[in-house]
Amino acid sequence: MHTFHGQCQCGAVRYRVQGEVATVFACHCRECQRQSASAFGMALWVRQAQLTLLQGSVQRWQRHTPSGRVMNCDFCPQCGTRLFHRTSGSADVLSIKPGTLDDAPVWQPVAHIWTASAQVGWQPPAGALCYPGNPPTWEPLLQAWRDHAAACGQP
Ligand SMILES: [Zn+2]
Ligand SMILES: [Zn+2]
Repeated sequence: MHTFHGQCQCGAVRYRVQGEVATVFACHCRECQRQSASAFGMALWVRQAQLTLLQGSVQRWQRHTPSGRVMNCDFCPQCGTRLFHRTSGSADVLSIKPGTLDDAPVWQPVAHIWTASAQVGWQPPAGALCYPGNPPTWEPLLQAWRDHAAACGQP
Protein backbone atom coordinates (compact mmCIF):
# COMPACT_ATOMS: atom_id res chain seq x y z
CA MET A 1 0.00 0.00 0.00
CA HIS A 2 1.23 3.51 -0.80
CA THR A 3 2.06 5.65 2.23
CA PHE A 4 3.05 9.30 2.26
CA HIS A 5 3.44 11.95 4.94
CA GLY A 6 2.95 15.65 5.43
CA GLN A 7 3.12 18.39 8.03
CA CYS A 8 2.32 22.03 8.70
CA GLN A 9 4.97 24.72 8.34
CA CYS A 10 6.06 24.59 12.03
CA GLY A 11 5.88 20.79 12.33
CA ALA A 12 3.44 20.69 15.26
CA VAL A 13 0.96 18.75 13.11
CA ARG A 14 2.13 15.68 11.21
CA TYR A 15 -0.06 13.29 9.25
CA ARG A 16 0.03 10.14 7.17
CA VAL A 17 -2.00 9.17 4.11
CA GLN A 18 -2.36 5.57 2.95
CA GLY A 19 -3.77 4.19 -0.28
CA GLU A 20 -4.79 5.58 -3.64
CA VAL A 21 -5.20 9.24 -4.53
CA ALA A 22 -8.42 10.23 -6.36
CA THR A 23 -7.07 13.33 -8.12
CA VAL A 24 -4.80 16.35 -7.79
CA PHE A 25 -5.83 19.71 -9.24
CA ALA A 26 -5.19 23.43 -8.93
CA CYS A 27 -7.89 26.00 -8.28
CA HIS A 28 -7.52 29.63 -9.35
CA CYS A 29 -10.68 30.97 -7.67
CA ARG A 30 -10.46 34.06 -5.47
CA GLU A 31 -11.11 32.02 -2.31
CA CYS A 32 -8.12 29.77 -3.04
CA GLN A 33 -5.98 32.77 -3.94
CA ARG A 34 -6.78 34.40 -0.60
CA GLN A 35 -6.47 31.14 1.35
CA SER A 36 -3.06 30.32 -0.13
CA ALA A 37 -2.01 33.99 -0.19
CA SER A 38 -0.68 33.15 -3.63
CA ALA A 39 -1.67 32.68 -7.27
CA PHE A 40 -3.69 29.47 -6.81
CA GLY A 41 -4.57 26.72 -4.36
CA MET A 42 -4.10 23.00 -4.84
CA ALA A 43 -6.14 20.00 -3.77
CA LEU A 44 -5.27 16.31 -3.42
CA TRP A 45 -8.34 14.17 -2.87
CA VAL A 46 -8.47 11.00 -0.78
CA ARG A 47 -11.10 9.44 1.47
CA GLN A 48 -11.45 10.41 5.10
CA ALA A 49 -10.36 6.98 6.37
CA GLN A 50 -7.03 7.24 4.54
CA LEU A 51 -5.82 10.05 6.84
CA THR A 52 -4.13 9.51 10.21
CA LEU A 53 -3.02 12.42 12.38
CA LEU A 54 0.35 11.36 13.80
CA GLN A 55 1.11 14.40 15.93
CA GLY A 56 -0.62 17.56 17.15
CA SER A 57 -4.20 18.60 16.51
CA VAL A 58 -5.96 20.94 14.11
CA GLN A 59 -8.29 23.86 14.59
CA ARG A 60 -11.29 24.42 12.32
CA TRP A 61 -12.62 27.43 10.44
CA GLN A 62 -15.83 27.16 8.44
CA ARG A 63 -17.02 29.05 5.43
CA HIS A 64 -20.24 28.92 3.43
CA THR A 65 -19.89 28.22 -0.29
CA PRO A 66 -22.00 29.96 -2.97
CA SER A 67 -23.83 26.62 -3.52
CA GLY A 68 -25.02 26.61 0.11
CA ARG A 69 -22.59 24.08 1.49
CA VAL A 70 -20.29 24.41 4.48
CA MET A 71 -16.57 23.96 3.96
CA ASN A 72 -14.66 22.81 7.04
CA CYS A 73 -11.12 24.10 6.87
CA ASP A 74 -8.56 22.58 9.25
CA PHE A 75 -5.34 24.38 10.09
CA CYS A 76 -2.44 24.22 12.55
CA PRO A 77 -3.27 26.43 15.56
CA GLN A 78 0.45 27.16 16.05
CA CYS A 79 1.53 28.37 12.61
CA GLY A 80 -1.78 28.74 10.74
CA THR A 81 -0.92 26.44 7.84
CA ARG A 82 -4.09 25.20 6.13
CA LEU A 83 -3.99 21.40 5.86
CA PHE A 84 -7.38 19.78 5.11
CA HIS A 85 -10.76 20.72 3.64
CA ARG A 86 -14.04 18.82 3.83
CA THR A 87 -17.31 20.02 2.36
CA SER A 88 -20.77 19.12 3.64
CA GLY A 89 -22.60 16.97 1.10
CA SER A 90 -19.41 15.21 0.04
CA ALA A 91 -18.20 14.36 3.53
CA ASP A 92 -16.06 11.40 2.46
CA VAL A 93 -13.90 13.54 0.17
CA LEU A 94 -10.91 14.77 2.13
CA SER A 95 -9.03 17.49 0.30
CA ILE A 96 -5.42 17.75 1.40
CA LYS A 97 -3.28 20.79 0.64
CA PRO A 98 -0.50 19.00 -1.26
CA GLY A 99 2.06 21.73 -0.60
CA THR A 100 2.18 20.35 2.97
CA LEU A 101 3.30 16.89 1.81
CA ASP A 102 6.93 15.95 2.44
CA ASP A 103 7.34 15.20 -1.27
CA ALA A 104 5.21 18.13 -2.46
CA PRO A 105 7.03 18.79 -5.75
CA VAL A 106 6.08 15.41 -7.24
CA TRP A 107 2.30 16.02 -7.05
CA GLN A 108 1.60 17.54 -10.43
CA PRO A 109 -2.00 18.76 -10.88
CA VAL A 110 -3.80 17.12 -13.81
CA ALA A 111 -6.38 19.91 -14.03
CA HIS A 112 -6.76 23.64 -13.43
CA ILE A 113 -10.17 25.04 -12.49
CA TRP A 114 -11.47 28.60 -12.20
CA THR A 115 -8.95 29.69 -14.83
CA ALA A 116 -11.24 32.68 -15.53
CA SER A 117 -9.74 34.30 -12.42
CA ALA A 118 -6.17 33.03 -12.92
CA GLN A 119 -3.36 35.46 -12.23
CA VAL A 120 -2.47 37.67 -15.20
CA GLY A 121 0.20 35.96 -17.29
CA TRP A 122 -0.53 32.44 -16.02
CA GLN A 123 -0.40 29.85 -18.80
CA PRO A 124 -1.93 26.35 -18.56
CA PRO A 125 0.65 23.55 -18.69
CA ALA A 126 0.54 21.39 -21.82
CA GLY A 127 -1.90 18.52 -21.47
CA ALA A 128 -3.69 19.76 -18.35
CA LEU A 129 -7.49 19.87 -18.26
CA CYS A 130 -8.72 23.45 -17.88
CA TYR A 131 -12.09 24.83 -16.82
CA PRO A 132 -13.10 28.48 -16.50
CA GLY A 133 -15.10 27.70 -13.32
CA ASN A 134 -16.07 24.50 -11.51
CA PRO A 135 -16.02 21.46 -13.83
CA PRO A 136 -19.54 20.22 -14.78
CA THR A 137 -18.54 16.80 -13.41
CA TRP A 138 -15.41 15.65 -11.56
CA GLU A 139 -15.07 12.35 -13.43
CA PRO A 140 -12.64 13.73 -16.08
CA LEU A 141 -10.34 14.90 -13.26
CA LEU A 142 -10.48 11.47 -11.60
CA GLN A 143 -9.80 9.74 -14.91
CA ALA A 144 -6.93 12.09 -15.76
CA TRP A 145 -5.33 11.27 -12.42
CA ARG A 146 -5.76 7.51 -12.98
CA ASP A 147 -4.01 7.87 -16.36
CA HIS A 148 -1.26 10.07 -14.92
CA ALA A 149 -0.70 7.82 -11.91
CA ALA A 150 -0.50 4.70 -14.07
CA ALA A 151 2.10 6.41 -16.29
CA CYS A 152 4.17 7.80 -13.38
CA GLY A 153 3.82 5.02 -10.82
CA GLN A 154 2.12 7.34 -8.31
CA PRO A 155 -0.67 6.23 -5.98
ZN1 LIG B 1 2.18 24.34 12.51
ZN1 LIG C 1 -10.79 27.52 -5.30
